Amino acid sequence: MKKPTRVAIAGASGRMGKQLIQTSFNDNQIELGAVFERVGSPLLGADAGELAGLIRNGVKVSDDFAKDNEKFDVLIDFTSPDGTLYYLDFCRKYKKAMVIGTTGITESDKEKINIASAEIAIVMAANFSVGITVLLKLLERVTRVMGNRTDIEVTEAHHKYKTDIPSGTALAMGETIASALDKDLKDCLAYPGGKNISGRESGKIGFTSIRAGDIVGEHTALFIDEGERLEITHKASSRLIFARGALRAASWLNDKPAKLYSMLDVLEMNGD
Ligand code: NAD
Repeated sequence: MKKPTRVAIAGASGRMGKQLIQTSFNDNQIELGAVFERVGSPLLGADAGELAGLIRNGVKVSDDFAKDNEKFDVLIDFTSPDGTLYYLDFCRKYKKAMVIGTTGITESDKEKINIASAEIAIVMAANFSVGITVLLKLLERVTRVMGNRTDIEVTEAHHKYKTDIPSGTALAMGETIASALDKDLKDCLAYPGGKNISGRESGKIGFTSIRAGDIVGEHTALFIDEGERLEITHKASSRLIFARGALRAASWLNDKPAKLYSMLDVLEMNGD
């Protein structure tokens, strides 16, 4: 059997951080070596197991990457765009692979991640669920068949604390559709500047977002023609699916050469 992958989790006290700690407990392919929080966090020194509502596991919340760097090989980052860049610098310096789940990262910061991937292996995905990865593949096929003659809408709903709008997953869906139309997303927006000036052209993509309650994540792509409408929906009811996907990505990444990978690579769906 493969040796367990030694991981560290950044953003340990966040919604995803706690879910990752919990999920890693039951994964015999993962060894939790370190957990990180912001410099000066009141949680520094707390036990990671207790923080996640489990039994003590002896891994202490730390803000000292240099000191703890020998305890892990892959860092899993679900923090904020600033947090991702902060940890990216450390991962480059100490040659650690990285799994990046943070969303809302700007194009210029994505370029920094791309440059870093010449030196360290990185898996980055706006959504680590298997279902959304399959959905992105389906979107390519549907768009090629009917994208040019339908009005396309991407709708998404998340809990009220999620800050980025539209969600990273909705944008990934839009980019997948645009790419299947051989276009850039910025050239296919249905309502550029927030206006529907003279009625929309087919093949344009609109986005709608809801931020409310405790919704974990729901995404739908609608392809709307006169007389028929195709809807493809994914609903996440637990953060467990993102944590499982991120831990699977960490395990897969451990022995891979430096490169920027996606969840399609992890699930070996890139050639489909
Ligand atoms: P959260 O606000 O509950 O937790 C964020 C954590 O990151 C906190 O512990 C916070 O202290 C830490 N953090 C934030 N900025 C930091 C910084 N500059 N330096 C160090 N630590 C920092 O958020 P969450 O709901 O856990 O989501 C975190 C990110 O993951 C968001 O971008 C969210 O959209 C994304 N997300 C992605 C997926 C996916 O599958 N890719 C799934 C769920 C959430």
